[in-house]
Amino acid sequence: RAKACGRDRSERFDEAMRAEATRLLDLEADLRRAILQDAFEPWFQPIVRVADGEVVGHEALLRWRHELHGMLYPAEFIGVGEDSGLIEQVDWLMYRHVFRHLAAGASPGYVSINVSPRHFRSGDFVERLLGLADEAGADPRRLRIEITEVALLDDAPRALRMLNTLRTHGVLVLLDDFGTGFSALSYLHRFPIQALKIDQSFVQGLGSGMHAESLALVRAILALAGTLGIDTIAEGVETAQQRDQLHALGCQYGQGYFYGRPSNAFEPGARIA
Ligand code: C2E
Ligand code: MG
Ligand code: MG
Ligand code: MG
Repeated sequence: RAKACGRDRSERFDEAMRAEATRLLDLEADLRRAILQDAFEPWFQPIVRVADGEVVGHEALLRWRHELHGMLYPAEFIGVGEDSGLIEQVDWLMYRHVFRHLAAGASPGYVSINVSPRHFRSGDFVERLLGLADEAGADPRRLRIEITEVALLDDAPRALRMLNTLRTHGVLVLLDDFGTGFSALSYLHRFPIQALKIDQSFVQGLGSGMHAESLALVRAILALAGTLGIDTIAEGVETAQQRDQLHALGCQYGQGYFYGRPSNAFEPGARIA
């Protein structure tokens, strides 16, 4: 009996594995087709100066208009894109849209784009990025890139050269999801980083229902950034209490549903909350 039960379970498990493998293969095939059709578009979320609500820039967030499933979010396909290597092609299509947006002067301030670590480390990323921006007539001084720490640590000397080249052209670098990786603090001061983006998991522990641990971590990150002369952007700001607390703690910039959700429409001259 127990044996039969166990077999049932392992058969069900095999079936679930097969179904998942098929789903991922379908998704990869869909992704290939979507690349041919360029079914991607950037949505933009404001980044705001906490002190006065001034919109200083926007983060461009990838969206996929799937012909059957509607709008897909990165969480649903980035994994498959990274494992298959297709993310690089998706990113270049995405960046082209962002550069057109920049060239059209469609929003105030800068626009930041996300780069997967593997993509960042690939071949001639920096040259291609600058070339594509130039082709589209986008001013690189209005462009920022968001990378995570892993992108820097594998080949630090090369990453440093890349960031320096970008900076020479006016492209500043934001360190995304800060606090979630194995922060190698000794590296931080060597890289030309313009701002740390404090991961939303910590920010969500501020405000009402506050977690002491989140507060301690945010404080530590702000102190570190202050010492190194690096700006800070809090991700995932959802409430006025979180905004107030971030302001009191000295965090300069914020981003999150409290200020505005990602959107593909712009109202000129925005100043929020
Ligand atoms: P991320 O760069 O950390 O982006 C922030 C994510 O948090 C976005 O999710 C955004 O919609 C969401 N968010 C913003 N404010 C709030 C808030 O107040 N509360 C909550 N709960 N969430 C908030 P999204 O757009 O689904 O993107 C997820 C991730 O996908 C991004 O995380 C980034 O790592 C990646 N990604 C986005 N666009 C691109 C892209 O063009 N290329 C690549 N390679 N990766 C991208
Ligand atoms: Mg980001
Ligand atoms: Mg982030
Ligand atoms: Mg994040």
